[in-house]
Amino acid sequence: MSLDLLVVGGGPVGLATALYAVQAGLSVAVVEQRAGVVDKACGEGLMPGALAGLQALGVDPAGHDIAGIRYLTPTRSVTTDFTRGPGRGVRRTVLHTALREAAERAGAGLVTGTVTGLEQHDGEVSVQVQGQGRLSARHVVAADGLHSPVRRMLGLHRPSGSRRRHGIRQHYRVAPWSEHVEVHWGRAAEAYVTPVADDTVGVAVLTSARGPMQAHLAEFGSLAARVRDAEVTGPARGAGPLRQRVASRAAGRVLLVGDAGGYVDALTGEGLALGLAQAQVAVQAVASGRPQRYPALARRAGLVSTALTHGLLTATATPAGRRAVLGAAAGVPWVFGRAVDALGGTGPKTGHTAYLGGAQGEAPPAHADT
Ligand SMILES: Cc1cc2nc3c(=O)[nH]c(=O)nc-3n(C[C@H](O)[C@H](O)[C@H](O)COP(=O)(O)OP(=O)(O)OC[C@H]3O[C@@H](n4cnc5c(N)ncnc54)[C@H](O)[C@@H]3O)c2cc1C
Repeated sequence: MSLDLLVVGGGPVGLATALYAVQAGLSVAVVEQRAGVVDKACGEGLMPGALAGLQALGVDPAGHDIAGIRYLTPTRSVTTDFTRGPGRGVRRTVLHTALREAAERAGAGLVTGTVTGLEQHDGEVSVQVQGQGRLSARHVVAADGLHSPVRRMLGLHRPSGSRRRHGIRQHYRVAPWSEHVEVHWGRAAEAYVTPVADDTVGVAVLTSARGPMQAHLAEFGSLAARVRDAEVTGPARGAGPLRQRVASRAAGRVLLVGDAGGYVDALTGEGLALGLAQAQVAVQAVASGRPQRYPALARRAGLVSTALTHGLLTATATPAGRRAVLGAAAGVPWVFGRAVDALGGTGPKTGHTAYLGGAQGEAPPAHADT
């Protein structure tokens, strides 16, 4: 039997795609190569748009509320609160469990297996699953992550330049000392601290340098001191290179969604919000029988966040640029507040999007702390 939609990759974006598909009345199955609960290197901060999108799908994972963002250097800091409701720090394992259970409850098929090939013919896509034969569907959404095998099978992968940044994250058993996601700016790296439970914080470092977590943390003196005596819980996980480019987010009846469709950087922490927004518009395109509309819809959904991430990444590529950006954020905090708020607004459309939008022209509360 041919499905309406087959999703390759059962990470958060693939599972959310399945939920949107069920809502749209489509028959759908998800093929995920890893059995059980899937973990991944991630800062684990759900921005307000991502959290609202999940809740609208009936998914409300436990975690720790996030009031906003604080940028810190050794000499100054600037803080802004979200105006669109709180975000939430959520362990990836908790998020995956919540989404998978919701997909199962909704009636999506869940298949464990690795997709190794794909062919399009006669209005159908046939997908080879290792050891399990072929599955066919009218459309395929590839949500198979940063290194998307499907993107390569379709010839849509493009080289992404010489600046290679990676992410590494670790959890520490310590009570969160801030309601904000802290972004510590080092000379050439950033460290993110996200509260994910009443007794746990996650620390993610973004850097071009290689090495163990401990070596990276040494660059961030005050942060290293905070977690020095804390129990390390679970293994460190890494991911990268972060920058991934695609020629297009669609080829015929196959749509690339989430990180599979290209990625700029984790610097602004809205990967999940953007992936959820893309999942929503991908299903709209499929349900309307016009998959060719998807690349334009996905571009529009990510316009603001992609531009801000590119801009910030470029501006902070040199030590002088980093000093200038941090100085400007502290000197003109409302600009910083606006940028963070725009990022916080990235995400799928929800019933209360209008409410979340805040008052027209209202400046988010942001202040330089030092
Ligand atoms: C260090 C770091 C920090 C980050 N911080 C944040 C943050 O704070 N907030 C935020 O919103 N985002 C953050 N992100 C980004 C976020 O993690 C990603 O945008 C998000 O995980 C994308 O989800 P996805 O479902 O597209 O891909 P993934 O989560 O990578 O899922 C892809 C799935 O596809 C499966 N798969 C792959 N190949 C196959 C195959 N051939 N067959 C079957 N299955 C396959 C994989 O097993 C995997 O489960 C961060 C990223 C990094 C690296």
